[in-house]
Amino acid sequence: MLHISGAGPAGLAAAITCARAGAKVVVHERKQTVGARFHGDFQGQENWTDTGDVIGALERMGIEPDFPHTGFTQLTVYAPSGQIFHYTGKQPLFYLVRRGSGEDTFDSALLAQARALGVEVRFGDRIQKLPEGGICAEGPRVGDVIAAGYQFSSDMADGAYAALSDDLAPKGYAYLLIHQGQATLAICIFDDFHNEHIYLERSVDFFQQQLGFSIGENAKRFGGLGNISYPATARKGNMLYVGEAAGFQDALWGFGMRYALVSGHLAAQAWLQGKPEAYDQMWQQKLGEKMRAGIVNRFLYTRLGEGGYTRFLRHLAEVGDIRQWLVRQHREQWYTRLLFPWANRVLPSKRKKYLCTHPDCTCTWCRCGKAGNKI
Ligand SMILES: Cc1cc2nc3c(=O)[nH]c(=O)nc-3n(C[C@H](O)[C@H](O)[C@H](O)COP(=O)(O)OP(=O)(O)OC[C@H]3O[C@@H](n4cnc5c(N)ncnc54)[C@H](O)[C@@H]3O)c2cc1C
Repeated sequence: MLHISGAGPAGLAAAITCARAGAKVVVHERKQTVGARFHGDFQGQENWTDTGDVIGALERMGIEPDFPHTGFTQLTVYAPSGQIFHYTGKQPLFYLVRRGSGEDTFDSALLAQARALGVEVRFGDRIQKLPEGGICAEGPRVGDVIAAGYQFSSDMADGAYAALSDDLAPKGYAYLLIHQGQATLAICIFDDFHNEHIYLERSVDFFQQQLGFSIGENAKRFGGLGNISYPATARKGNMLYVGEAAGFQDALWGFGMRYALVSGHLAAQAWLQGKPEAYDQMWQQKLGEKMRAGIVNRFLYTRLGEGGYTRFLRHLAEVGDIRQWLVRQHREQWYTRLLFPWANRVLPSKRKKYLCTHPDCTCTWCRCGKAGNKI
């Protein structure tokens, strides 16, 4: 029997993989629903860290794309200089999905698929230890990145907008996604977390002025944190860490859903093979190169500054197919190999404080004081 703590995308992807192979799986979820930290807000299933289309990749992992998803091939980005850039990809840059516990969300679709395969999901069941091993898919614990925003009704035409400026979202970006009368306006910041509310209100004002709309009084606020790290190991004995619990996320802009699903799938395969020790090699083969490139990309991005953001956007406008360009930036290149050790030291993840590799520690997050031996 496989025990999984956490019913997010990583945990449910692991559950689906194991259940498809006929294994008995129990998923323990501390909240009463899936997607409890989201409120129907839009997220982008990124399609730029791999050549293959992400929806096809999900199908190959055994995840049915039966959740509403809309491919966006166009993106408008505002530069700090006031210039506006319009980008178009030949294939979708990302697929818009909804997160939360509602009927039409990605989370509810994964839950339904897992249950249809016989997975038992125990809600309101908070796990602290996995003494017999299993998969830890508990999501982020401390903030390396913060996202916060509003979900609201809108009569604007469908569209995707972003703004790069440290005045709006330090070292990150503000974004507005509109689809079929619903909109998500949010910031994703990598610095100055204490002033999150100031940046969010500035970003609301910015987009309202640019596009001439009002978010209204019924807007629902949401927010959360994210972990980004490149762990030396994502295993503690027979316990395998997946998704953001392992720090897996594209470090450049903080997109974590795809790596959560892939790592969940891989951990389940390692468990099915009876070889938990093979998991580190498996995720390193599939995600390692992209994650190292992502960390170097983030390291370089944090050094751009306002003028650099504009130059970066101008360069993007000249590369032709922006998706293909981004795919290339997630491959290891000579400068990635050179800069990664340094970038990885300069951008330390706060997550490292909470995990240990003590073989006799069974805490999913270390509570037994053995965290001296850090991951
Ligand atoms: C506001 C916001 C916007 C985002 N936008 C995007 C985006 O556009 N694109 C993208 O790719 N990513 C985005 N992300 C990141 C993305 O949401 C995560 O990377 C992804 O959800 C990680 O999946 P996960 O399964 O690892 O963790 P989670 O989705 O966090 O799931 C972890 C689950 O474990 C449960 N849990 C925690 N502790 C325990 C415990 N002790 N016992 C039992 N259960 C437990 C939690 O309740 C939760 O249900 C965004 C994040 C935020 C906060």
